[in-house]
Formats: sequence, C-alpha cells, structure tokens
Amino acid sequence: MNVREIPRRDMNEVLQDPWVDTGRRPWISGDIAYVPVRDGYPYTMALKERRRKGRGYQKIGSVIAFHGEKPDWDVVSEVIDRHKPEAVIWYRGHRGEMRIPEITVLYGEVSDTMHKESGIIYHLNPAVVMFSQGNREEKRRIAGLVKPGERICDMFAGIGYFSLPMAKAGGHVHAIEINPDAVYFLQKNILANNLGSRVMVSPGDCRDHITGIYDRIHMGYYDAAKFLATALQHAGPGTMIHVHGIGDNTGEIKEQLDMAGVLAVMNQRIIKKIGPGKVHTVTDLVIK
Ligand code: SAM
Repeated sequence: MNVREIPRRDMNEVLQDPWVDTGRRPWISGDIAYVPVRDGYPYTMALKERRRKGRGYQKIGSVIAFHGEKPDWDVVSEVIDRHKPEAVIWYRGHRGEMRIPEITVLYGEVSDTMHKESGIIYHLNPAVVMFSQGNREEKRRIAGLVKPGERICDMFAGIGYFSLPMAKAGGHVHAIEINPDAVYFLQKNILANNLGSRVMVSPGDCRDHITGIYDRIHMGYYDAAKFLATALQHAGPGTMIHVHGIGDNTGEIKEQLDMAGVLAVMNQRIIKKIGPGKVHTVTDLVIK
C-alpha cells in the first residue's frame, strides 16, 4: 500500500483530494498523518502488503491488542473499521516478575477499560497490567472444580483473573499480588462483581502472606514451581494445587515434592501455545 506522510494538522484538508485512496483508512502516529494513495499518484512511502497468519489479536474491553509480529497498517485499519476501538496496541512482551506489558500504541489512546468474560467484569489498563489472554477455558475448568466454602489461595492473583471465577463458584479466596497497579484493579474488580465477602486481598509477596492450610492453591505464574515449597507448607491431605508453567516442568515439581517429603497425584495439561514449540501448562497436584 502506498501512502503520503503529511502533517497531522493538514489531514482533514487533503481527504477530498483526488489522490486519496478512500477505500483505506488513514492513520496518525505522533504529528504525522499517513494517508493512503490511489494507484498512479505520487506517494512518499510504500508499505509491504503482509498478510498475518490467523487473527492474532484480542479485544480487551475497548482496546484491540495484537500479539506476535507487528501488524501492518492495513490489518490495523481493518480492525479499527470493524470494532471502532478506543485504541489498538501491539504487545511486544511482558517484563520482570510483575509481567509488566511492553506495548506499542498503534492507534488512539490507551486508558482504563472494562472487559467482560464468562459473566465476570474485569477493569484494567492493558498498558499497565497484563491480561492473560487465552486462559478462558482454564478459568472455567478451575471454577468448575471449586466446592462451595472451600478455602483457596490465589498466590499470583493479578487483577483477579482466576480469583474472581473461583470466588463466584463459592470459594473463599485469599488473593495475593505483589504489583500495586494490579492490586488496584483487583480491588476494583472485587467490588464490581460484588465479591467483597468472598475475596480477601493481601498486597505483597505471596511467600510473606500465605497463611494457614488451604483446600486449593492456585499458582498462575510461569515460575510457580519455584514457589511450590512455600505452597506445600500450606497444604494438607486432599489439598489441590494448580502449578502453572512453561512446557513439561513435572521434573522440577517432583523434586520439590520429594524435598518436602510430600506425596501427590500429578496430572499435567496444556493450556495454550505461547510461541514456537512453547506451551503454557498447568499441573494439578492432589496432596495425599
Ligand atoms: N494469576 C493471573 C493469571 O493467571 O492470569 C496473573 C498471572 S501473571 C502471569 C503473574 C502475577 O503474579 C503478576 O501479576 C505478578 O505481579 C504476580 N507476582 C509475581 N511474583 C509474585 C510474588 N512473589 N508474590 C505475589 N505476586 C507475584
């Protein structure tokens, strides 16, 4: 696709000009407007037409978020026309233990948004806290396992992605989260879903706040196996522990169980693909 780069302030004036390709949407980045040009007219930049494999994006409230390779403008403009989002972002990755999103804003302005999933309201700002795309089925599965009145610890609660479905299913959830920004949205989401009597929040490191014995411990963090020794100190016979990870980490889990002198029935499942040859797994442990 060919475009002309013109100052943003001049964009509206030129849109009626004969060279403008009205079948495509112009876009703005900073002070520059990129206006698609019809064939046969001079242009300042030629963009390669790359087709993306699959959809490659998700709707998070009023924000469209692309994962994987950076989308071309014609892909972005298609989703803008289709979904009329407030913003379009491209997730380049997540950094550090708090999984802070690293994003590029491709269109609009990113702010707090509200996302509804399986009847639960999640307030979040996708530029500030991660949104666990692709865990929808797993959230449903875990909520389906919860027995009313269970005492549950969600050691890496985030904004309540799993805490809220487990609480809504009747569990009493102790949600622990180290990232203050995530804690802000977690508390907002508990109120938004009227789950204040079912979820207790501990801001901070799960190793400092986990307490007592739980019926269920959810460890939604790829490095969860490193925290398993802590979790095992708060598990008794029959406690179920859900250990997330990347690929087959059952060796590391077995090591932790052996060091703690704990026997458990172990069952690992794949939740989703997270990259070439990489899968997000969860290993269910039932403590004997
Ligand atoms: N459980 C949510 C989910 O599955 O979608 C959030 C997962 S996110 C990958 C992991 C969360 O754990 C992040 O919000 C991060 O800030 C938090 N976290 C990392 N280390 C932690 C620790 N030691 N104690 C408590 N929270 C921690």
